[in-house]
Amino acid sequence: MRTAELSTGVCIVGGGPCGVMLGVLLARAGIDVTVLEKYPDFLRDFRGDTVHPSTLELLYELGWLTDFLALPHDEFRTAGASIAGESVEVADLTHLPTHCKFVALMPQWDFLNFLAERGRRYPTFHLLMKTQGAGLIESDGRVTGVRAEGPNGSIEIATKLVVGADGRHSTVRDLAGFAVEDLGAPMDLLWMRIAKHPQDSTQQLGWVRTGHMVILLNRGTYWQCAYLIAKGSFDQVRAQGISELQGGLAETVPMLRDRVAELDDWSKVSMLDVRVDRMPRWHRPGLICIGDAAHAMSPIGGIGINLAIQDAVAAANFLAAPLLAGEPPTESDLQRVQDRRMFPTKVTQAFQTFVQDRAIGPLIKGAPVTRPPLVARLFDEFPALRRLPARMIGIGVRPEHIQTPDSRESIAP
Ligand SMILES: Cc1cc2nc3c(=O)[nH]c(=O)nc-3n(C[C@H](O)[C@H](O)[C@H](O)COP(=O)(O)OP(=O)(O)OC[C@H]3O[C@@H](n4cnc5c(N)ncnc54)[C@H](O)[C@@H]3O)c2cc1C
Repeated sequence: MRTAELSTGVCIVGGGPCGVMLGVLLARAGIDVTVLEKYPDFLRDFRGDTVHPSTLELLYELGWLTDFLALPHDEFRTAGASIAGESVEVADLTHLPTHCKFVALMPQWDFLNFLAERGRRYPTFHLLMKTQGAGLIESDGRVTGVRAEGPNGSIEIATKLVVGADGRHSTVRDLAGFAVEDLGAPMDLLWMRIAKHPQDSTQQLGWVRTGHMVILLNRGTYWQCAYLIAKGSFDQVRAQGISELQGGLAETVPMLRDRVAELDDWSKVSMLDVRVDRMPRWHRPGLICIGDAAHAMSPIGGIGINLAIQDAVAAANFLAAPLLAGEPPTESDLQRVQDRRMFPTKVTQAFQTFVQDRAIGPLIKGAPVTRPPLVARLFDEFPALRRLPARMIGIGVRPEHIQTPDSRESIAP
């Protein structure tokens, strides 16, 4: 089969929150951009569902917030947990300095479809689904393109900049030979659906008992359920039989006791490998990695999507000017993106590894949980303290703002 050739200003490998957001912002600024996504659609259950106040603020800055919030979604303004049967409030987002003082819960495929639809309003936005970045094209030590496999065969894509936004198992970072520092994670997640009944409590996101932790995400008609297991123990958990899993779930979340039998087959349970890592250097001439490709985030705090979106905004802010001038970004342009985003990455991962090491690791090894830990009791007792976790979850460290122009606004009527 003949290899097709195409040329684009920027080739982004990976159509997750990071890649699609960057693609939309660059196309909006008038830059020709091609996003490659290996799957035929965004419909995958294992994607996180949280759209944070900082991301909603970016949608506000783009003028898209009202349309976005018209899509079906749920909102949470406070977050609670049930620990050893006791309910505690741990976060209060209602004081955040953002237009939306809540996390929107929306299936990520709806969020990505929304962004892609906005992108398609710009003629320079190209999203190639079912197209996998498989190789890099290099010339004189510089990355000058991507080899991709699409539905109609191979494509050679020449470009001024390749962006690796292909997530935790990034092909681009492997192909580019980047070093990766592994920060470790004590747990993996089992990810499954279970029916939601009208009388179910929606106050608690997290449910904790000795040996078990469960996160319930409200997806309207059902719960998306994350069940923590010790790292690498999935084979052992399976060998114990599905009734053990049903029992653990029923014991940890008593309101689900009447329907855990729905999970009667392992085909209804996916195992998600949790990783926390980062690359000391995010770029080479002609290429940069951002989002989980540069720094895989743990699900703790549900802040990985937020960080990935913020990386995309920072990258657009720093790289749009040289690209609009028709120049490939220099190494110092790419370093500015890394310098800007490394600090929030390190602080967020330090928070996640602290929680993993101090709370989750001991918990899944069976450390007894007889009552909520002191920090949770303090949050519960003193409402003002709940603003701290709300700030970390809702806004994060060093929030970004849209600085790139809208090319349509500069077109004379
Ligand atoms: C179990 C679990 C639950 C989580 N829940 C949450 C949550 O609720 N909230 C939250 O904020 N964060 C959550 N996170 C973290 C969050 O999912 C990530 O931090 C975030 O998705 C990173 O976005 P990204 O765009 O960088 O990468 P990804 O979301 O991983 O997107 C990468 C995209 O690239 C595509 N791709 C991969 N390789 C190629 C290739 N070679 N060619 C073309 N395309 C390719 C993939 O199909 C994917 O669409 C969770 C993480 C885990 C492990």
